[in-house]
Amino acid sequence: MSATVEQILKWMDDYAVLIRRHAADLTELDRLIGDADHGANMQRGMEAVLKLEGKEFHDASTLLKRVGMTLVSSVGGSSGPLYGTFFIRMAAAFAAESEDQKLISAETFGKGLHAGVEGIAARGKAEAGDKTMLDAWYPALAAYDKALAEGKGFHDSLEAAVLAAEQGAEDTIPMVAHKGRASYLGERSAGVKDPGAASSALLLRAAFDTFTQ
Ligand code: ADP
Ligand code: MG
Ligand code: MG
Repeated sequence: MSATVEQILKWMDDYAVLIRRHAADLTELDRLIGDADHGANMQRGMEAVLKLEGKEFHDASTLLKRVGMTLVSSVGGSSGPLYGTFFIRMAAAFAAESEDQKLISAETFGKGLHAGVEGIAARGKAEAGDKTMLDAWYPALAAYDKALAEGKGFHDSLEAAVLAAEQGAEDTIPMVAHKGRASYLGERSAGVKDPGAASSALLLRAAFDTFTQ
């Protein structure tokens, strides 16, 4: 098993732990502006992903593709296909990188993040400010790119991305939703953090924990 496969499995492990810890909070946010299942959806998905542990994967890209497909098939809500697309696109971006790569570099990870987020946008057709997970992802990408451009390493760049994603999730609170179930509420969707933005910030938090140890 290559180091990258181990790293990705560790990332999924860390994310599953965070999702378990925050499942009730995520579901509560979704109770307020959706259908009260986001925490449960993500938990079901990540428990299924954890079952991939122990299976043999040739490389990180193959594993990430399986992660994405597992989320698509095990998560009932709209977040399943969105997160699924994220990982499948990230897998494709990693596959395009050098094959003998043993550890994921900051640049490669950045390419994966960009590809994944483009996948979410293509699939969900949401824009910045629509009060979706993209409102965590876009500021995170901008912060990550800026940090890398300033010559910062993986640790500092991921830290900048996490902080921007968490701030981005907070910034969804006053927004009125234009996509997903929360949009059915119209103006009444304002005043609550978007659950998918919150779970996306957790995915980056898990990446920070995994890749910068
Ligand atoms: P469902 O809404 O089907 O019950 P979840 O509750 O698991 O699914 O996920 C809801 C989250 O999915 C929202 O908080 C939002 O972040 C995200 N979401 C929904 N629709 C879209 C979309 N079109 N584009 C991006 N993200 C979306
Ligand atoms: Mg829901
Ligand atoms: Mg639902």
